[in-house]
Amino acid sequence: MGFSNLQFAECRYRLCRVLAISSELPISNCQLIKFAVISEEEARKKTLEAVRPLPARKLWISKSLDFFAAEDHFARLPLPAFDNSAMDGYAVMASSCKKGQRLRVISEQPAGFDRELRVSSGEAVRIFTGAPMPVGADAVVMQEDVTPDGDEIVINTDVEAGEFVRRRGCDLAEGQRILAKGERIRAATAALLASQGFVEATVGGEVNAAIISTGDELVKPGKKIKAGQIYDSNSPLLGALLQHCRAIVKSVEHCRDERESLIEAIKRGSENHVLIISGGVSVGEHDFVKNALRDLGAQIDIWRVAIKPGKPFLFGNIDKCAVFGLPGNPVSAFVTCLQFVRPAILKMMGATDLDLLQIPAKLTVDLTNDNDRAHYIRGKLEHGRFTPVGRQESHALFGLSQSNALLRLALGQSLKAGEIVEVQIWD
Ligand code: AMP
Ligand code: MG
Repeated sequence: MGFSNLQFAECRYRLCRVLAISSELPISNCQLIKFAVISEEEARKKTLEAVRPLPARKLWISKSLDFFAAEDHFARLPLPAFDNSAMDGYAVMASSCKKGQRLRVISEQPAGFDRELRVSSGEAVRIFTGAPMPVGADAVVMQEDVTPDGDEIVINTDVEAGEFVRRRGCDLAEGQRILAKGERIRAATAALLASQGFVEATVGGEVNAAIISTGDELVKPGKKIKAGQIYDSNSPLLGALLQHCRAIVKSVEHCRDERESLIEAIKRGSENHVLIISGGVSVGEHDFVKNALRDLGAQIDIWRVAIKPGKPFLFGNIDKCAVFGLPGNPVSAFVTCLQFVRPAILKMMGATDLDLLQIPAKLTVDLTNDNDRAHYIRGKLEHGRFTPVGRQESHALFGLSQSNALLRLALGQSLKAGEIVEVQIWD
């Protein structure tokens, strides 16, 4: 005998109620029971699969810092572009130069304009750093190593061919790749592009983001605080993390724990590529985010991930907007933003490397993870040593502020002081 759809739905609802009661979930959250707690790896895979790189654009080199190349860029010129002097001194033929040798100074070659001079045996050309080498010269003698004497110089050192000459193309060949697709543009990259005459770079898109902090208890810094209230610290935290990865924070709103206002705020926020909602994603009666998202027809792909802190993390989308629901506790918001939001934003911006920088460090204490999920330990990385700092609890913002690195302890993992571990850094 088969079940009708109605019977099936009823059955599921009953099962939900049983589960909800046994796990102390509010009945209103029954529909969410289909969301199993997933692993961090799966959550990361799902969030990354759900976002796409934004269209490329051209940007002035001076504005391109920390964006990512949307295509390979190649050298238009060799570097150096011509043989030139590495010193202020005298361009000579090394074979005609011995210590004590007297040479006639026939001309001068400053930087900036190639006078197309020629040097022969027994001659020298006064030359300056960056100036083109005269034809025939294969070495430069530093001015500190000669004694001038009228229109002659006496060489006070032995000279070898190639000395203090910067050869054309020795640093970079014409046509060589100078910036790979997906690579971050750093200060030196911007300089290299400029050295090639580039005015603009082709970079990945700019991510617009909105932040909504939810909670009746929240007050904006600068305002008077009453008993039971706290200042909203997640808005500046998330704003700063977004700025770090070059997303543009278009709006920052505070919203009370109220379905209607939340719906309106989410509607406004979802006009961006990314919407981050902090707080209100847990299982309490005042956690309205999931239902507000549902009311708006959002697709919710993830709710609850096996990490500490940050378990109630939520991810979904409203049309083209990627929606991240971060738990309100500041350390949870911080960890989930770095582990899930940051890589997704970087992917949208066209980055290849989505990971935080990992560096090896010597652990200074024994650590064991006896939680039921991976644990991100906040700590201080100093002189190659990692030491946990502050209370390892999700509300402990001071401890977080003293840390500069995260150590991920896998489920059941034990580490001993002195072991070399990989830690993630974000500053
Ligand atoms: P929630 O995720 O809304 O249940 O909040 C969990 C905890 O984080 C509560 O103690 C909140 O008061 C706190 N919290 C939520 N939002 C913020 C915020 N924007 N700034 C600081 N603390 C917050
Ligand atoms: Mg709340």
